[in-house]
Amino acid sequence: MINPILNQLYQICGQDNVIDNPQLTNPYTHDWRKRYHGSAIAVVFPENEQQVQELVHFCLSSQIAIIPQGGNTSTCGAATPLSDYNKPQLIINLQRMNKIISLDCDNYSLTVEAGCTLQQVQDYANAHELYFPLSLASQGSCQIGGNLATNAGGVQVLKYGMIRDLTLGLRAVLANGETLDGLTALRKDNTYLDLKQLLIGSEGTLGIITHASLKLFPIPPACCTLMFPVTSIAQALQLLHQLKAYYTNNVSAFEIIKRDSWQIYQNYFEFRHELCEAPWSVLCEIEVNNDFVLENLLTLLEQSEIDLNQSIIASSENERQSLWQLREQIPLAEKQYGYAAKHDISLPLSQIEDFVISNSAKLKELEPRGYFSIFGHLGDGNLHYNFGIAGVDSQQINALEKSVNPIVYQDVIVRGGSISAEHGIGQSKKHWFEKFCDPVSYQLMQQIKQQLDPKSLFNPEKIFNFPCL
Ligand SMILES: Cc1cc2nc3c(=O)[nH]c(=O)nc-3n(C[C@H](O)[C@H](O)[C@H](O)COP(=O)(O)OP(=O)(O)OC[C@H]3O[C@@H](n4cnc5c(N)ncnc54)[C@H](O)[C@@H]3O)c2cc1C
Repeated sequence: MINPILNQLYQICGQDNVIDNPQLTNPYTHDWRKRYHGSAIAVVFPENEQQVQELVHFCLSSQIAIIPQGGNTSTCGAATPLSDYNKPQLIINLQRMNKIISLDCDNYSLTVEAGCTLQQVQDYANAHELYFPLSLASQGSCQIGGNLATNAGGVQVLKYGMIRDLTLGLRAVLANGETLDGLTALRKDNTYLDLKQLLIGSEGTLGIITHASLKLFPIPPACCTLMFPVTSIAQALQLLHQLKAYYTNNVSAFEIIKRDSWQIYQNYFEFRHELCEAPWSVLCEIEVNNDFVLENLLTLLEQSEIDLNQSIIASSENERQSLWQLREQIPLAEKQYGYAAKHDISLPLSQIEDFVISNSAKLKELEPRGYFSIFGHLGDGNLHYNFGIAGVDSQQINALEKSVNPIVYQDVIVRGGSISAEHGIGQSKKHWFEKFCDPVSYQLMQQIKQQLDPKSLFNPEKIFNFPCL
């Protein structure tokens, strides 16, 4: 006899769009980093918003916990069901809701279903000679709904902001079963509270985002993309300051990579260059127009004592993409290298150099065998600050995290930083979130959650600790 829950899911989405065989559900019940895995009665793939509404109503009436899921590229266990839970858990994955709804070239806006991948949106905009600037290494898999639910950042935040800054409107099936329709394409709308902001960054705890209206831009006329060595974070930041003064907000990306990250990288990918031997290297992109004079940029770099002989300046679109590919492959190399205590932190730019020097000395003293891999979006004050021990398993990393994380996060908070710059809270940071969040803000956020989802059925035990009632 068919399980009555499955039967109802078949009725709503069609039998072909529901999977419950563990071999098939496996990619959806494990997270990208293989740190979390959970159990789900099924993974269901709705085709449209109406099916999402029906699924939500069914789950609310049957006390089934819902795990909204996009590309499942979360790095903090946000999209993975819990391993042991007192209610059945259903993964609602939006990959079939991948239609482009409308393009308004005059308004520079694009309306899409939330299951479109980021790459799909970028390509669609490009095909219409427009530009959607959000750019992440996971863009082939992650979905716009997931990007919104995590307020994704990436490599172009310096000029264009995070996805919150790129969103005009959205529609969502809320955790109480109602549908919030805020799918406008307006740049100005001061009719009291901007409720889309509640859903952006909500990590699937308040509802399922079904549609979004996104800002587009003219394609930048050209880019100057270059990678160069620096001796310290301070030198990199001093140069960033000068570049911003000269090129104003046309400096669109400013990434940093520590030498140790290149050493890990070279275990898996072919890239040998003397700049990998420098203590740090910077990958920088400047959007340029016809007035751009490369000589001026080179002079500026030389004045900042950058060794141009060790630098790479992309001279074609292919070379530009190759430079970006190097940067994007770093997390992939790290993943293959093994488990590490990973921290996605942000700090005021003025604090970063001191933080890295003093905190890394503390970690090295704690665990002399440890290695660092530090890279990230320096221009935004965001580092992926990772500390591991070669060859350890996930349990040993859990133990390492217990001693390392307090040292990292305490120092981050003391310096006015954040324990989650762009990856969210999910399962991995909820205790730290509770510890460091302003208590009034924390309580208000809990009240909003309880108001919309009193039984805590939406992505339970993510962000907050309360279980389903
Ligand atoms: C190699 C790699 C590089 C990365 N680089 C970056 C980076 O540079 N910047 C950055 O910000 N992140 C980065 N990430 C993290 C991740 O890709 C982003 O957080 C991304 O936005 C998640 O999108 P997703 O579709 O995979 O969401 P998922 O992982 O499926 O879900 C993430 C969260 O969103 C919720 N969710 C998903 N879809 C919906 C929806 N439709 N409605 C409501 N809630 C939903 C889930 O419940 C979960 O809480 C990277 C990840 C990897 C693996």
